[in-house]
Amino acid sequence: QKELWAQLKDEPTISKDGVSVELAANIGTPADVEGVLNNGGEAVGLYRTEFLYMGSNDFPTEDEQFEAYKSVLEAMGDKAVVVRTLDIGGDKELSYLDLPEEMNPFLGVRAIRLCLERKDIFRTQLRALLRASTYGNLKIMFPMIATLEEFREAKALLLEEKDNLISEGIEISDNIEVGIMVEIPSTAVAARQFAKEVDFFSIGTNDLIQYTMAADRMNEKISYLYQPYHPAILTLVNNVIEAAHAEGKWAGMCGEMAGDPIAIPILLGLGLDEFSMSATSILPARTQIKNLSKAEMASYKDQLLSMSTAAEVEAFIREKTNQ
Ligand code: PEP
Ligand code: MG
Repeated sequence: QKELWAQLKDEPTISKDGVSVELAANIGTPADVEGVLNNGGEAVGLYRTEFLYMGSNDFPTEDEQFEAYKSVLEAMGDKAVVVRTLDIGGDKELSYLDLPEEMNPFLGVRAIRLCLERKDIFRTQLRALLRASTYGNLKIMFPMIATLEEFREAKALLLEEKDNLISEGIEISDNIEVGIMVEIPSTAVAARQFAKEVDFFSIGTNDLIQYTMAADRMNEKISYLYQPYHPAILTLVNNVIEAAHAEGKWAGMCGEMAGDPIAIPILLGLGLDEFSMSATSILPARTQIKNLSKAEMASYKDQLLSMSTAAEVEAFIREKTNQ
């Protein structure tokens, strides 16, 4: 098994019937890039930048951030690096940032909501990202987008800082894709409207499942409700992928579901373009996809989407894929 994986390390990811998809990795720090390359990652599909902020006693400066982003981009070469802007709040706190006490922090001022409220913090990060953009293949992604106005405002700030840097004589890449995480159910439902304006979607199932099922992702007492194969989740995921493709955009997934051997055949059949997972899941996933027919999985789509329960979906996939 290990030998087979080593063979596949530098291979593209192609299904049994010749369709290629991209297997990317989730990272938290520049030091993680080595593991991505050693495990045959074709891209970084999610760089969680909050670790830069959580690992210190004050906000990281623009230069500190620039160095971190540059080192990831350089190490990945021409492979894509999707950097997610700061996703703090909810369960993630900063000792040096006084967040207001909230009844429901996960439904409160977190991620893009905080960044649009504290534009000083956000602009610093955007400038660092833009300055690093010429060192590799940068894509920028905003977390927890609930409305198009949020996306437009965040993108406008990005373009404003781009203009500022250019007038300071700093070179910026001209083809930075700007996309969003789909992790709020309303955004998944209205994906058609978002797809016209974003460059890509990355489905954040960790939060999307929690918000769709109204089940705290950390609460073990209700973990039985945390169901990636629930027909509602599959319907939302399918809607996002169809919306992206209708506008000629790509759709990825960076939640845990993307690396799950039961979910992978389903997602392949639904047409997901990019799967981003922990680095160690990449070679097992590539091995699995090599043995799956995308056309066969796609032929089960209507059947899967009309099933009544997650258990039914799981049993069906286990039977069809001998798991
Ligand atoms: C997600 O919500 O699926 C995701 C990838 O982001 P995080 O786990 O950092 O919230
Ligand atoms: Mg999330």
